Amino acid sequence: MNRSPCGRLAPSPTGAQHLGNARTYLIAWLSARSQGGSVSLRIEDIDIGRNKPGATEQAIRDLQWLGLDWDGEPVIQSERYPEHLAALEELKRLELVYPCTCTRADIALAASAPHLEHESPTYPGTCSHRRAADAEGLKDFSWRLRVTDSPAFTDRFLGEQHIDLQLAGGDFIVWRVGNLPAYQLAVVVDDAAAGVTEIVRGDDLLSSTPRQLLIYRALGYPAPQFAHVPLVHGEDDRRLAKRHNGTRVSDLRAEGVKPEAVLGLLARSCGWIDEVRPITAEELVPMFRWETIPREKFTLTREMLNDLV
Ligand SMILES: [Zn+2]
Repeated sequence: MNRSPCGRLAPSPTGAQHLGNARTYLIAWLSARSQGGSVSLRIEDIDIGRNKPGATEQAIRDLQWLGLDWDGEPVIQSERYPEHLAALEELKRLELVYPCTCTRADIALAASAPHLEHESPTYPGTCSHRRAADAEGLKDFSWRLRVTDSPAFTDRFLGEQHIDLQLAGGDFIVWRVGNLPAYQLAVVVDDAAAGVTEIVRGDDLLSSTPRQLLIYRALGYPAPQFAHVPLVHGEDDRRLAKRHNGTRVSDLRAEGVKPEAVLGLLARSCGWIDEVRPITAEELVPMFRWETIPREKFTLTREMLNDLV
């Protein structure tokens, strides 16, 4: 079945959007638009406690300012609780999830097995003997998905990927303590509902993909194509974050920087133009290529930021 191309932009309102986010959004948007595809916008706000006031409006304003448009109304992830819950119920019916009462400390204590760097300790399977119905009478539990295998996939940017999920955390949480959907479940349910065929995101989420593919398969959704792109780092070699002053899109806008200047810098970093010059998102559509985007992380220097003004 050929589905029409659909990409997505999925900002999280846990903070301001910076140039690293903007670069990933630009690649995602151009990839979809260069195929004549649609773009869906979703605000990933289910981590309610971490949302910053006004950050949703600001993220929308940032995208509009950059000229990255979308089709239809923005989807607010926290408003899709009934759909997330229905997916959990289906996973329970299939006995693919079980209630877990372990605390973080329990898992750290029990987990002696080796695990991958930057990943949580592998869940030792303490509660995996339980069936879904055993949740009756339990308190303060999460739902974990049984990791039966580690689906390989071909990343649009990075090529063949074989990530051993047993080394990358094992059985993982799809529903959190407090009766709330976890990221891995919500993102799959929402992308499938929006008809997303292509997911472009930062390579810090690479190991989420085989987990999400297990959920796609369990729920009978067609899997999208994934592309994980390198993150932007500051001159201190750390990934761009709040500590890097002057890299927020909203700050640049307030300083009077033109969106075309920002796009010129980002387009140069992706190899679509030979030197930094003002350019619009629309002008970049026919210039978009995956092949020219460097495999290495992009280091944003103070000099580049100064040149934007
Ligand atoms: Zn447990």
